[in-house]
Amino acid sequence: MPDTVPTYFRKGFGLKAEVQEDLSSDYTGRLVDILRTQDYTLQVGDITVRLAREFGFCYGVERAVDYAYQARRKFPDRRIVLAGEIIHNPHVNDKLREMGVEFLKGGPAGFDFGSVQPADVVILPAFGVTIHDFEQLRKLGCVMVDTTCGSVLNVWKRVDAYARDGLTSLIHGKHYHEETRATASQVERYSGGRYLVVRDMAEALLVCDYIEGRGERGAFLATFQHAASPDFDPDLHLQRIGVANQTTMLARESLAIGEVMGQSMERAHGPDYRAQNFRTFDTICSATQDRQDAVNALLEEPLDVMLVIGGYNSSNTMSLAAICAERVRTFHVGDATGIDVERGVISHQPIASHNEVETADWLPAHGPIRVGITAGASTPNNKIGDAVARVFATRGIDPRSIQ
Ligand code: SF4
Repeated sequence: MPDTVPTYFRKGFGLKAEVQEDLSSDYTGRLVDILRTQDYTLQVGDITVRLAREFGFCYGVERAVDYAYQARRKFPDRRIVLAGEIIHNPHVNDKLREMGVEFLKGGPAGFDFGSVQPADVVILPAFGVTIHDFEQLRKLGCVMVDTTCGSVLNVWKRVDAYARDGLTSLIHGKHYHEETRATASQVERYSGGRYLVVRDMAEALLVCDYIEGRGERGAFLATFQHAASPDFDPDLHLQRIGVANQTTMLARESLAIGEVMGQSMERAHGPDYRAQNFRTFDTICSATQDRQDAVNALLEEPLDVMLVIGGYNSSNTMSLAAICAERVRTFHVGDATGIDVERGVISHQPIASHNEVETADWLPAHGPIRVGITAGASTPNNKIGDAVARVFATRGIDPRSIQ
């Protein structure tokens, strides 16, 4: 009988109990625990903090981080490398670095696995990797610890079905985001499989214009040059379309894009053609949906300021910040260190900007104030708690006195 040693792992190593203590000490937040037990509210003096009921680590992130810790425990003496970032949170990634995990940088052409040896362990992130990267690792024969989230796999199944049935996958997402790159690559399983990524409704409407004969070929190709299959031809490949989305986009915009694409197909070709040649499916994950629903519920309350905590490259955090900014003065901070207690200044990233800016006097020094808080799916509770502590400290309240 051949001696086959498994090299591909998708369900951890049965070491959950062994790593639990490390996970708790690295990511639990005391103030968040208190908020939870007090109906998501902390009131001290004339400052009230309200936490959205769904926030922070999602099931996919918890699982990915858990498996990475388990992999370290399982292979204490092996070199462990991560394809990209496990999730978009610098603190979690730094923790893994402290545990000796090395990070490989990726680019549009994929990862450079040149340094990976068969004896190495490679962790695939919650976003997944492209088919090309996956096959490269298979050929190397290294141990693969695949933490791709089940909700991402669901999007892949949808895109796979579109490509199999001859439809172009139109993906609402960010073409440079790891998850969307991996999702788009799924069309490569079929010869003639194609994709087009639209960032937002404005880009979706450009596609509608083209479908309805109002587009200009050169301008279209220039706009989507980095966001479409290499041989994408709008005159050929917008005839049959299936819509899917990156799991962390703004849910209402994804739904609206599916709707306008369908209407456009119908205007261009008629209802029967639409029924035969157009499909749409909402692939926003339930964790993203729950966090967006919870923040919408919180925004129904009177709030003076909203604080959104999460990595500046975290897609779901940006979606939460965009929702909040429509309704209330909002600050998206990368982490608690963005709140400078001494100077009363906050460093934050405005919506649709890629630059951090500073705002002084962001929290009024006196008078009653209500601060809403939420955090993206990759933000651990201890980092949320640190931010809450700094909010209170900015108003002169010692967070250690809060019970
Ligand atoms: S945000 Fe959604 S898709 Fe992404 S890891 Fe979390 S649960 Fe999975």
